[in-house]
Amino acid sequence: MLNKKSVDDINVKGKKVLVRCDFNVPLKDGKITDENRLVAALPTIKKLIADGGKVILCSHLGKPKGEPKPELSLAPVAVRLSELLGQDVTFAADDNVVGDNAKAAVAEMKDGDVVLLQNTRYRAEETKNGEALSKDLASLCDVFVNDAFGTAHRAHCSNVGVTEFVDTAVVGYLMQKEIDFLGNAVNNPERPMVAILGGAKVADKLNVIDNLLEKCDTLIIGGGMAYTFLKAKGYEVGTSLVDDEKIDYCKEMMDKAEKLGKNLYLPVDTTIAKEFPNPIDAEIEVSVVPSDQIPADMMGLDIGTETAEKFADAVKSAKTVVWNGPMGVFENPILAKGTIAVAESLAETEATTIIGGGDSAAAVNQLGFGDKMTHISTGGGASLEFLEGKDLPGVVAANDK
Ligand code: ATP
Repeated sequence: MLNKKSVDDINVKGKKVLVRCDFNVPLKDGKITDENRLVAALPTIKKLIADGGKVILCSHLGKPKGEPKPELSLAPVAVRLSELLGQDVTFAADDNVVGDNAKAAVAEMKDGDVVLLQNTRYRAEETKNGEALSKDLASLCDVFVNDAFGTAHRAHCSNVGVTEFVDTAVVGYLMQKEIDFLGNAVNNPERPMVAILGGAKVADKLNVIDNLLEKCDTLIIGGGMAYTFLKAKGYEVGTSLVDDEKIDYCKEMMDKAEKLGKNLYLPVDTTIAKEFPNPIDAEIEVSVVPSDQIPADMMGLDIGTETAEKFADAVKSAKTVVWNGPMGVFENPILAKGTIAVAESLAETEATTIIGGGDSAAAVNQLGFGDKMTHISTGGGASLEFLEGKDLPGVVAANDK
């Protein structure tokens, strides 16, 4: 369990409460295309409103790189949030985040009111954890709440710097839930525990592979990262994505699995094509071959049918499953079959199923399996660093219990 003070440990009646949320939602033509992160932030916000706090929300959105970018304004979030909360959310549209609008809006707040500040990354100091923005943010509030799991792996002004200038810094319900689910799944799982890793490159997930191998009973590797493992086994992998520098590492991991008595499953067959689809969703001709028979001029782009069955079987006998990264180039319907099969097997099992954010979370939601999973993390990078066993600066900065 997370040993940090939470919104349940403080009294916010009449106090100005700055809440760092993760409102980094995808936008298309000014419309929010996936509001999962907004919905996930509601429990904390509602609790603070109900307790009579003056609720000042802040978040980043996209990468404006330290300057105002109208297309990355949080204005659409204020509109949607006010609908979801059923009350006004005053948007303080200051290009410098804490400017005249924010100060005036906060000065006028009554208990239970909600104000949303502009995109914190409009200021260049935000991602450098600079003092000026940290102090500006702290000057608005009496209490700070960090509920932004998605940025917890970064030390920025709005989640870490600000805590140096506020006496009380606690975590919100979403942060608590994320850490509890991911923490339990990895550190105290009901066994057997199966970890499924996919995605593009081995190099992106070196420490995740290493850490999960120690914690799980079975480690399944699919997606682009599988081909470096297959090459390390001495197989011909054709023109598949391979990280030659990581071949020794893959050998080490296979040895480690054997020494620890863990199952390490790699694709036994693979879906191949002449080349990477261009555009990514272009119709392409594919075939399925055993993983040790990939022709030299062909590329592996998804796990094969037998592999999908084998992986699904491993999920069936699991009590805990942690999944991060797609099994193939799932953006293309012809190459999404492996990812869909794995998603289906997770949707069907009674086991605790945890999706580690990013592409896998998007894939599960798009496929309509979202409500069949025990927990889908709102943080891609943050959940990965957590799965690596790292401390998250945004969590560390909160007051201990
Ligand atoms: P995030 O980093 O957002 O959390 P993720 O961890 O779920 O995402 P990534 O490591 O970013 O996953 O990799 C996802 C990408 O890997 C997808 O765009 C997918 O097309 C690509 N990919 C999967 N399999 C292959 C393959 N065999 N060859 C090339 N690319 C692949």
